[in-house]
Amino acid sequence: MVPLFTAKQIVYINNSLFNELINASFIILFFEVMRNITKYVSNISLGVYFRESLKVLQLKSLSSLLNIKNKNLDNLPSGVIIERVNNDCGKIADCIPIVVEHLSEIISNFGVIITIFFLNKLLFLYLLFGAVIIFIFKNIRIKKWFEFDKKRRKANEKSTSFICEMIRGIRDIKVLNANKSFLDEADKRLKYKNKVNYDGRKVLRKYDLITGTIHDLLNLFLLLSGVYLLKNNLISITAFVTIYLYKDRIYNLFNAYSSLQEVLKDFELSSTRVLDIIEGDKYERESFGNKVLKKAHGDFEFKHVKFSYKKNIPVLKDVSFKVKANTTVAFVGKSGSGKTTIFNLLAKLYDIDKGEILIDGININELTEKSIRGNMTIINQSPYIFNLSIYDNLKIVAPKATKQDMINACKMANLHDFIMSLPDKYNTIVGEGGITLSGGQRQRLAIARALIQKTEIILFDEATSALDNETQDEIQKAIDNMKREYTILIIAHRFSTVINSDKILFMEDGVIKDEGTHEELLQRNKNYKELYELELKNQP
Ligand code: ADP
Repeated sequence: MVPLFTAKQIVYINNSLFNELINASFIILFFEVMRNITKYVSNISLGVYFRESLKVLQLKSLSSLLNIKNKNLDNLPSGVIIERVNNDCGKIADCIPIVVEHLSEIISNFGVIITIFFLNKLLFLYLLFGAVIIFIFKNIRIKKWFEFDKKRRKANEKSTSFICEMIRGIRDIKVLNANKSFLDEADKRLKYKNKVNYDGRKVLRKYDLITGTIHDLLNLFLLLSGVYLLKNNLISITAFVTIYLYKDRIYNLFNAYSSLQEVLKDFELSSTRVLDIIEGDKYERESFGNKVLKKAHGDFEFKHVKFSYKKNIPVLKDVSFKVKANTTVAFVGKSGSGKTTIFNLLAKLYDIDKGEILIDGININELTEKSIRGNMTIINQSPYIFNLSIYDNLKIVAPKATKQDMINACKMANLHDFIMSLPDKYNTIVGEGGITLSGGQRQRLAIARALIQKTEIILFDEATSALDNETQDEIQKAIDNMKREYTILIIAHRFSTVINSDKILFMEDGVIKDEGTHEELLQRNKNYKELYELELKNQP
């Protein structure tokens, strides 16, 4: 309607038909207002749709990410995850709004095209012919764009991964005085990303130039044909003006179709990348049994366990041991002997290759995820403390805990007095990774976090970093506070921590070489004694 009445306006102006001109203008206004109202409503509802579906996709990706086996996560850089959770999910969520936009363009252009068909069949055929030629070139462009987009995304992942790592390791980079080499590497990756973008876009621009030129030539011939038809009275001025004003709509119809294809290809690529994380075979999922163990007693057993992270590089070679509930057992051995691996396997962060792991006499593979991980807490060497207040760091792992529970846990972890000395006390924000806390305070907050979860089993990987004696004492006291109430497994890096353990498992090169109390091992195991004496010698 708008093109028809626009053309009529021109004729009315030409013939000084002002009343008709005003009527035509009101009709146009009416249609334009209707169009804007429809656009407004559809934009708002599509916006809501976009945000909601993005949220659902991102949450689904994040929850699926938590189910991916650690073996696969070890080889999945954070940049890849960020690109997929942010950009690819965004592209998928944006697909429907864009498709709706293109479809409405196609439908509205259809109306214009039918009008042109009835106004002049010859010019209609001419425009149709031009549109087909442009469409062919656009299709070739889409194929090129698809190839380029794959490359572009890979390059983006590479640079994002490196930037993420740089940000995470920023403090180490500074103290290593390696600013320049890191910036050089970032420069190299960003340059590569730019080059991929530049090369790809250069090819695309070439096709844009070709279609643009064809388009201009077609317009010129349309004008010349119009002049010829007008001269010979084969077309009315209204019809020609309408066709000339709205000629691009016929191209737009084909363009919208090409763009629709482009969006669908984009959708395909993004959804493959997101589905890889959500449900694909590329990354294996963790699997659990369905036996429920609500409150574990705390007995453990490893029976002839064999395990390797990578094929043919055995890390645990036939490990067997028993741990009784409410006892404290320490693992001692050189770095790389497999102590942390035992913890990883107990929490089923990795699956064993052979043997059996039993919790309260039940094979770990038969238990549900909650029965395993809900019954134990691992305190790592460098626990991750979230950029929240101390209170929220505790609340996030135990939403039902009361303030008093938190105070009790912090008292037991020997941290309460320190917290109370802070200006904001439990409301103190601790910075990303708990950066405003010392290593010892971080470990004690992690102990409090473990205690508040009220699990029976605590796996404690003592910090290797040189903690001062006072901090070490504080941590030792925290551990002593927990003894007898919990089953505690400690990876000890200092003999002072293990001397009072009920049992020490001495590990060497993926096997348990000996087990007993500190005195027993000192007496009968030469290597254990050597390790002990080495520490005594190195003490200040
Ligand atoms: P420990 O705690 O006694 O220092 P670990 O259990 O951490 O020893 O490591 C045992 C061996 O397993 C080491 O040789 C180490 O390089 C290897 N390892 C540890 N974690 C991984 C992993 N995620 N992927 C591959 N190899 C690993």
